[in-house]
Amino acid sequence: MIAHRGAWKNATTTENSLFALNNAFRLGCEGSEFDVHMSADSVPVIHHDPLIRGTSIAKSKASDLQGIKLDNGETLPTLEAYLKAGMIQNRTKLILEIKPSELGKESSIGLAQKVVTIVEKLKGQAWVDYISFDYDICKEVIVLAPYAKVSYLNGDKSPAELAADKFFGLDYHFSVFKKHPEWIKDAHDQKLTVNVWTVNDRSGLEDLLKQNVDFITTNEPELLLSIIKF
Ligand code: MG
Repeated sequence: MIAHRGAWKNATTTENSLFALNNAFRLGCEGSEFDVHMSADSVPVIHHDPLIRGTSIAKSKASDLQGIKLDNGETLPTLEAYLKAGMIQNRTKLILEIKPSELGKESSIGLAQKVVTIVEKLKGQAWVDYISFDYDICKEVIVLAPYAKVSYLNGDKSPAELAADKFFGLDYHFSVFKKHPEWIKDAHDQKLTVNVWTVNDRSGLEDLLKQNVDFITTNEPELLLSIIKF
């Protein structure tokens, strides 16, 4: 049970906020996912879109971004603040999505390097798993942090390809497994984990549980929890 951008929806709070992260801990989620972009002066911050309130994160200084409030009143969290908040507990993994930069590949790889540096500086290695849609970002993390659990999001690589590149798993949209139902077994045969996103309806959740996937990323962690408990 991975809370997608934290557990925000039923708490009527803001996705990717510290409140949403703490709510995922309170629910006992196995993981809480969040998205990371980097400011122009190389400070990673937590936000889904490359823009916040019309302002480009990649083209703004961190000090300017700090003046922007989330809808729930929190200050835009930095990665460092988010990790520190996550490391006061040890039940819920921190599923860190590295977003490709709108400024291009070099900036994307720069963000991957910066993120690993911060995680290691804070000694957060045991808390953090990594995901990205960008294959080069994933491979950079695997090179920099061979111990890290890295999963690929984009759905266009087979389990055999990911195993050859030393991934932890595949983390694909549910439609990918409708097209390639054999990839669940293939992944497990290759000792890869299977994570499916973003599944929010009861029948979809129940169907995936029957198929023995390892993780489900959802905006409805309360619903998934109720199904698992039942
Ligand atoms: Mg994400």
